[in-house]
Amino acid sequence: REELLKHADTAMYEAKNAGRGSYRFFSPEMNRQVQERLVMGAALKESLGLGHLALRYQPQIRGEDGGLHGVEALARWSHPRFGDVPPAKFIALAEETGLIEAIGEWAISEACRQMADWRARGVAIPTVSVNLSPMHFRNPKLPELVTVALESSGLSADALTLEITEGVMMDSCAGTRATVEAVAHLGVRLSLDDFGTGYSSLSSISTLPIEEIKLDRSFVRDLQNDKNARAVASAVIRIGQSLGLTVVAEGVETEPQRRFLQALDCHVMQGFLFAPALTAPDLEHWLLERAVTLSPIAHVA
Ligand code: C2E
Ligand code: CA
Ligand code: CA
Repeated sequence: REELLKHADTAMYEAKNAGRGSYRFFSPEMNRQVQERLVMGAALKESLGLGHLALRYQPQIRGEDGGLHGVEALARWSHPRFGDVPPAKFIALAEETGLIEAIGEWAISEACRQMADWRARGVAIPTVSVNLSPMHFRNPKLPELVTVALESSGLSADALTLEITEGVMMDSCAGTRATVEAVAHLGVRLSLDDFGTGYSSLSSISTLPIEEIKLDRSFVRDLQNDKNARAVASAVIRIGQSLGLTVVAEGVETEPQRRFLQALDCHVMQGFLFAPALTAPDLEHWLLERAVTLSPIAHVA
């Protein structure tokens, strides 16, 4: 009987995941998936506790002069048994299990620690962007948590950018909006990630205290062969410009994509054309090498 109840529970869980008004019959495959989620969830929690999660940093390049706008911190999880688990997978798992709260705290403090280290050693990185999930903004303690991370690493608020998604805008939870405002009030920059996917409402970008929007990489990917993608990309860049927001194009992989975005005066670009997400030492190397190729002396030689 206990087994039967467990199976019913599993099917209910799956049905809930599928959305309102759906139903699911129990299948052994379902049981396997639930089992996997439990095991991986526990492993993720353990890895976080042991300090086995890491951040990689992807440079963001200014269109006008090729200078560094900032870096985006992206989480990596490498597990002895599961190998390198893609962030899309373990972040979703963390959101399901509630572990995302702790991962967000870790990411903010780890990014601040790294930023302080760069500042101390004179590595010129203007700002670090940390990804947050909508759930973080339901925590009224978020502004305090950010303040502590900044203060304990001796950073001013503009050293940190927080990337939020449209889910935050759409969140009906009462405190969310106030928390967004409070974080912005600290002087931390807010950036709206994956712009153009989701249910973007234009009113949200004009009323929320964001300073930056990130054009989703699906539009950048299709720039060359889809005129609708070109239209959306151009429109997003113009809207951003007219609202005085910085526009960051994500997933720039090719020179033609870069040229197209450049012609539209897109402020900032990020993507494999420049660099993937790198370890802190690799990013420092990359910056040094780039400084050499950009310097006038290199051209003379
Ligand atoms: P995102 O925030 O949209 O991050 C950008 C993703 O695009 C990263 O994938 C990055 O490696 C990838 N990318 C960058 N340039 C290119 C390119 O030129 N071409 C292609 N095809 N991809 C490119 P990644 O690191 O696998 O992260 C996937 C997603 O996982 C992120 O999407 C973000 O939503 C989430 N994520 C990663 N780290 C964190 C974190 O610390 N906290 C939270 N809440 N979410 C995170
Ligand atoms: Ca992001
Ligand atoms: Ca994105």
